[in-house]
Amino acid sequence: RFSISAAIEEPISPPVQVKYSQLLINGKFVDAASGKTFPTLDPRSGEVIAQVAEGDSEDVNRAVAAARKAFDEGPWPRMTAYERSRILLRFADLIEKHNDEIAALETWDNGKPLEQAAQTEIPMLARLMRYYAGWADKIHGLVVPADGPHHVQVLHEPIGVAGQIIPWNFPLLMFAWKVGPALACGNTIVLKTAEQTPLSALYVSKLFLEAGLPEGVLNVISGFGPTAGAAVASHMDVDKLAFTGSTSTGKIVLELAARSNLKPVTLELGGKSPMIIMDDADIDQAVELAHFALFFNQGQCCCAGSRTFVHERVYDEFLEKAKARALKRVVGDPFRKGVEQGPQIDEEQFSKILHYIKSGVEDGATLVTGGTQAGTKGYYIQPTIFADVQDGMKIAQEEIFGPVQSILKFKDLNEVIQRSNKTRYGLAAGVFTNNLQTANTLMRALRVGTVWINCFDVFDAAIPFGGYKMSGQGREKGIDSLKNYLQIKAVVTPLDNPAW
Ligand code: NAD
Repeated sequence: RFSISAAIEEPISPPVQVKYSQLLINGKFVDAASGKTFPTLDPRSGEVIAQVAEGDSEDVNRAVAAARKAFDEGPWPRMTAYERSRILLRFADLIEKHNDEIAALETWDNGKPLEQAAQTEIPMLARLMRYYAGWADKIHGLVVPADGPHHVQVLHEPIGVAGQIIPWNFPLLMFAWKVGPALACGNTIVLKTAEQTPLSALYVSKLFLEAGLPEGVLNVISGFGPTAGAAVASHMDVDKLAFTGSTSTGKIVLELAARSNLKPVTLELGGKSPMIIMDDADIDQAVELAHFALFFNQGQCCCAGSRTFVHERVYDEFLEKAKARALKRVVGDPFRKGVEQGPQIDEEQFSKILHYIKSGVEDGATLVTGGTQAGTKGYYIQPTIFADVQDGMKIAQEEIFGPVQSILKFKDLNEVIQRSNKTRYGLAAGVFTNNLQTANTLMRALRVGTVWINCFDVFDAAIPFGGYKMSGQGREKGIDSLKNYLQIKAVVTPLDNPAW
């Protein structure tokens, strides 16, 4: 039996109120130019939390104009890097001060367990801001040798107005990954949040103003992809675009960027990450981490370990233990203590996941546990496991983005390397083995941006994250993320200029 909390049917009253629901443009909360609003919904019930201003191209124009002015004329890029760093540090302090309120807002709008938001994600937002605050005054260029009598400087300058489009699965972590490096380098920003989760970014942006961020440096637009998002991607005065979301939308924004002003684009897209469990692995640890890798955040992770390859010698043991673990997973109201899994983000994702479950059954995979809605209200889904999954099945190829674990059997190392890499994605992989040679072989052979060995979802600020193949372009977090937000200028001067 699943441990389904009774509170699914009667949602707990959230311990927070919505304070900000307008667009943030030029340091002020304003209505959309059109006056339009859209509802943001509680995934526990589908009920309206608040009406939010719906930005479109006219609002994006206003936000870009504010960001342009703040970049060209404002103090931000000209401030000392130390001052910029101190504003980021003050912001991190304010995040910590309001941790629980921000976490509750995130849970309400997104459905993720409150404990996860309060103990991991909001503290990580503060941590990331301190990490980038540390970089602000350590960004510098080079002096390089020339063959002739020239003094050559290579300057690293902020790129200008950054357009940033983020998804709904980790609203504030995606905010941090984008805003942190852009601000540390001295850029200004127009950020478009996901239409499913507009609330938390507005709340924390107010804290940024309180921390001393000058007006116009960070503008936040709530609204939909084809209108507000497309306006950011195709704007002639946006100098750089950073996008996180699905691979299909990634292609659209890349094209919009190319067709407008050829702004450089970084993309963090989807995945179908393999988990490889060798026969010499610690099976109990592998079961627990493979469970975590897939079910964490309701399965709504771009790097979810969504193809669990298990060596045939340990397959039956693994399956039995994986089933027992899934049956123990606590599904319930995300505001309730001890709940591991809340509702999916919205009806669209909920139906999409149930559709994938149906296709798994139709394609002949063995449904081991789960397979339907949990409870009768909101968008909860039972933790689901398929065994005997074959590579060609839809559930082994496409991103489900839900609590559905697919378990596949393999015989030897070469076979699993080939099958793991046989996907258009290349975001991450998990490897479980106690053999160093096997670990070394796999870490090099897997065509993915992150390999976690005997661990999973370790996301420290300094670790670069991003995809190979159709999982994306560029890296976020770590030192590599700074390169996304810098222009490089070469300055050449004669060494023997007689006029000097
Ligand atoms: P999505 O692509 O539909 O939306 C992402 C963002 O793009 C939203 O803000 C949306 O409004 C905007 N958007 C949609 N259409 C647009 C358009 N035509 N022009 C401009 N912007 C547009 O994705 P989603 O369903 O919100 O998020 C889930 C997907 O994101 C999954 O595929 C997941 O793998 C991926 N994801 C990737 C990472 C990563 O780091 N690689 C992280 C989180 C999520």
